[in-house]
Amino acid sequence: MTAAFYYDGRSAERRTVRLTVDGGRLRIAGEAVDAAVPLAQVDFGEPLGKGPRVIELPDGARCEVADHAGLARLLAAAGHADGLVARLQARWRWAAAALAAVVAVAAAGYLWGLPAAARALAPHVPATLTQTISDSVLVQLDRQLFRPSELSPAQQEHLRRRAEASLRRAGLPAWRLHFRAASQLGPNALALPAGDIVVLDKLVQLLDERELLAVVAHEIGHVAHRHGMQRLIQGTAVSLVMAAWFGDVSSAAAVLAGQLLQAGYSRGAEGEADRFAARLLDACCGGREALVGALEKLAGHAGDDGPSWFGSHPDTPARIAAIRGLPQDY
Ligand SMILES: [Zn+2]
Repeated sequence: MTAAFYYDGRSAERRTVRLTVDGGRLRIAGEAVDAAVPLAQVDFGEPLGKGPRVIELPDGARCEVADHAGLARLLAAAGHADGLVARLQARWRWAAAALAAVVAVAAAGYLWGLPAAARALAPHVPATLTQTISDSVLVQLDRQLFRPSELSPAQQEHLRRRAEASLRRAGLPAWRLHFRAASQLGPNALALPAGDIVVLDKLVQLLDERELLAVVAHEIGHVAHRHGMQRLIQGTAVSLVMAAWFGDVSSAAAVLAGQLLQAGYSRGAEGEADRFAARLLDACCGGREALVGALEKLAGHAGDDGPSWFGSHPDTPARIAAIRGLPQDY
């Protein structure tokens, strides 16, 4: 027996009744009411939080049951089971947890899943495809941003030879130096995924040769760790989703060149490239202090001439401390 309020569907009058199940019928008995309705014609409704359950009867009358324990007994006697969704909805914690889980999975996918996937995928991109991508990014940068270097051919050749003599080592990825000028950019260098390292004239003018080699060593570190390819995979994943969303694929390609220059790498990637450079410089070039010297000069370079290597490589004091703190035999 379950207590309920009865409304006849015609007036607002509320009557106290008792509900029982007997012989395949729901019996409603109480103040001036005594009815029995076949269970098949009763709509037991859905639970709505902790509010009373509304049971609809075929003649337009309805019963409200606030006694949840009594309701459970009644439903059991009637052989009625709420749907799974209704049962989950009844527990707001489930609903809130489900929403939180969806948000968390989406955020984790963006923050960690995508970088992790890019990291896993990058080594498996075929070398020919990597080179094709690098070539097309350089063509695009040459068209939109770069001018030919104003360094003399002799100076370019001299710097190439110095870099080759010092930094060309067994076990390192292939790399090539390119010299360019760019009026919208400050002293800068960047590595394309296949190992093409572009050094801008302003960087050559700002740094001495050892510091310049240190920056090139850092860029080789980005190549060795495939940071460029990881960024491209991440960037294109987001761009492709955007492109699918907005129906414009051409913008996805344009994003690639820009993100290498503007966005820089994550702090973790910079740390990896610094550690790579420190180890290489210790082995080849009289130590890692040249990298510290380069960082200090770039940090002190108050340029209003556009993004510099420093601009895409922030957090200098922490990086210098980390570089100096690495053990010698790292
Ligand atoms: Zn870097």
